[in-house]
Amino acid sequence: MDAKTIKQIIVEFVRTSPENSLKNEAHEPAWDEPLIGFSSGSDPIYQSYKEHVGLFHFLPEEIFNLTFPDSPATSEELTVICWILPQREVTKADNRAEDFYPSERWVRARFPGEDFNILLRKHVVEALEKKGIQAVAPTLSPHWKIVNSPQFGLASCWSERHGAHASGLGTFGLCDGLITAKGKAHRVGNVVARVRIPPTPRPYKDHREYCLFFSGGGCMVCAERCPVGAITEEGHNKKLCWDHAGGTCAKYVKEKFGFDGYGCGLCQTGVPCESCIP
Ligand code: SF4
Ligand code: SF4
Repeated sequence: MDAKTIKQIIVEFVRTSPENSLKNEAHEPAWDEPLIGFSSGSDPIYQSYKEHVGLFHFLPEEIFNLTFPDSPATSEELTVICWILPQREVTKADNRAEDFYPSERWVRARFPGEDFNILLRKHVVEALEKKGIQAVAPTLSPHWKIVNSPQFGLASCWSERHGAHASGLGTFGLCDGLITAKGKAHRVGNVVARVRIPPTPRPYKDHREYCLFFSGGGCMVCAERCPVGAITEEGHNKKLCWDHAGGTCAKYVKEKFGFDGYGCGLCQTGVPCESCIP
C-alpha cells in the first residue's frame, strides 16, 4: 500500500462517515478535511522522546511488537501514520466568543467527536489488515496507559501529538498544543503499521518553531485566554488545566447542555495560532 492510498482511506472516511458528527440537532460534521503525515519507525526522533518525554514512551517497534509478539518487526519496517482532524469554523467561532466555559459545539467535538476519531483509528487498522498489513493504533492498545512522571506529571506512554510532530505536521506551542498548517484547534490520531512509506519532510528545525513566544515574538495570547492561569512563561500547568476543563467545566456541561462531557479549549481559539501557523 502506498501513501496516496492510505491518505484516500483517511480522507474518504472523514468525508463520508455519518459518524463524523457533532450529534446535535442539525447533525453538523465534527471535523474538516484532515492533514496527513508519515514518519519512519526508525526515525531517531522517537528515541529522543525517551529522553524528552520519558523512558516510558514507546518506540514504534515497542508498541508494535507488544501487539504482535509472534511476528516482531524491525523499526525500519514500520511507518507511523498520523492525521490531524481540524475543528470546523463554526465550532472555533463559538469557542472564540467564550471567556470562561467552553461552547456546546466545542464540547461536542470532544464528546462525541473523539468517538469518531476512535472509529477512524479502527477503520485505518482494518483497511490495512484487509491488505495483509499488520497495524496497531497505540492509544487503543491495552498496553497504552497514562503514567505519572516525576518530571512531566501525567503523561501518556504514546503521545499522538509527538507522532504528528515526527511526521512533519507541526510544532508545539507554549500551551503544549501542536501548531499545524491548519492551526492548533484539532484532534490527532496515529496508527503504527508494518509498511514502508516515504516519511513526510519536517519543515522545521526546532520542536517549538511555529510558536510566536518561542520564536521571539512575545504573544502569550493563549495565557491571556486561559481563565485559570494555567499557562505562564514556564509553560502549561496540566493540573490547573484539568481541574478546570475536567472538573468545573464538566459540571457546567451537565447543567447547561444536559449531557456528560468536559473540555475548555479557550487557549486553542481566539489565538494567533488557532487556524494557521502564525
Ligand atoms: S497563542 Fe501565541 S504563545 Fe500561545 S501557543 Fe499560540 S503562538 Fe504560542
Ligand atoms: S484548556 Fe486548559 S490551559 Fe487551555 S484555556 Fe482551558 S484551562 Fe487553560
